[in-house]
Amino acid sequence: MANVLVFTETNDGKVKPVTLEILGKLNGQKAEVAVIGDLADDQVKLLASYGAQKVHKLKGANLDKYSPEGYSNALQGFIKSQSFDYVLAGATSTGKDLMPRLAASFQAGCASDCTNFTFDGGTFAGTRPLFAGKCLAKVELTGPKPHFATVRPNALGMPATPVAGAGESADVAADAGAIRAAIKEIIKAASSKVDLTEANIIISGGRAMKNSDNFKILNEMADVIGATVGASRAAVDSGFAAHSMQVGQTGKTVAPSLYIACGISGAIQHLAGMRTSKVIVAINTDPDAPIFTKADYGIVGDLFTIVPIMTEEFKKLLGK
Ligand SMILES: Cc1cc2nc3c(=O)[nH]c(=O)nc-3n(C[C@H](O)[C@H](O)[C@H](O)COP(=O)(O)OP(=O)(O)OC[C@H]3O[C@@H](n4cnc5c(N)ncnc54)[C@H](O)[C@@H]3O)c2cc1C
Repeated sequence: MANVLVFTETNDGKVKPVTLEILGKLNGQKAEVAVIGDLADDQVKLLASYGAQKVHKLKGANLDKYSPEGYSNALQGFIKSQSFDYVLAGATSTGKDLMPRLAASFQAGCASDCTNFTFDGGTFAGTRPLFAGKCLAKVELTGPKPHFATVRPNALGMPATPVAGAGESADVAADAGAIRAAIKEIIKAASSKVDLTEANIIISGGRAMKNSDNFKILNEMADVIGATVGASRAAVDSGFAAHSMQVGQTGKTVAPSLYIACGISGAIQHLAGMRTSKVIVAINTDPDAPIFTKADYGIVGDLFTIVPIMTEEFKKLLGK
């Protein structure tokens, strides 16, 4: 059995769902959780219900906002005082920034952006997409422990029957050390929607949207079915959508339960960011568009006709 630490981020005081996905998958290993700052009792109980034996709340000066050096120093000190075999975190913007830095400070390996992992006799093996998702590599980490890995949000899915852990919690004095690059302010996006990387349903628009105003038909459908709106790079480069909405190789990597691509051709760079979605629906006027080779459901037609019809049907189905 491996001794595993899961680093969790919080959003408005709530642990990110990817932490629960990871804990669920760790069933059979000894799992503990570290969070920077405080965490309410209901969140500690939630972590316990997914298998956390212990929740360590790392507290100290200069840790109120994320900084790569501060968080990494605080976690480094804590991890050194314990005997974890593995440290796992979500492959979020923060996780992707923090974990390789932390791994480097231990001169250890880091398996980034895993879409799955197993523990065989306490030894971790991760699955990582390579070459824009065209192949999957099985990665094992060697050398002195602890080893590090990040896991793509939504890739594992929530466990059907989570096994509870003891869920003790403890405050830990943490030292942020010298911070040379401090984040002064974090300005939240105006949208109250779930971030693309964590969204369960995504509706994306491509160049065919023609302008930013037309995105309102996607927003309308998104409001009805609780989706987040994304975009292709062509839509972003044309100024129809914000860069934070871009899905793909040079945008965000997503793995929602449902991805609806509207007027997107399905270039390899776009597929790289969304091909691990569980169900893909494509709406395109061109029956030979490459997106149809990856779609589970394809609709050949004009998105400006089809999207409003789908929105109305969803409203009827959901009683909205
Ligand atoms: C290094 C590099 C990195 C890149 N990174 C990314 C990335 O991160 N993300 C990304 O998306 N792209 C990326 N690209 C760009 C990528 O190669 C494509 O150019 C881009 O994805 C095309 O966007 P699109 O599908 O919206 O536009 P197009 O390829 O122009 O496709 C538009 C589609 O809309 C269909 N259409 C037209 N009118 C309608 C209508 N009324 N109703 C329905 N369908 C309609 C057309 O048939 C067509 O299939 C990258 C490229 C490079 C070189």
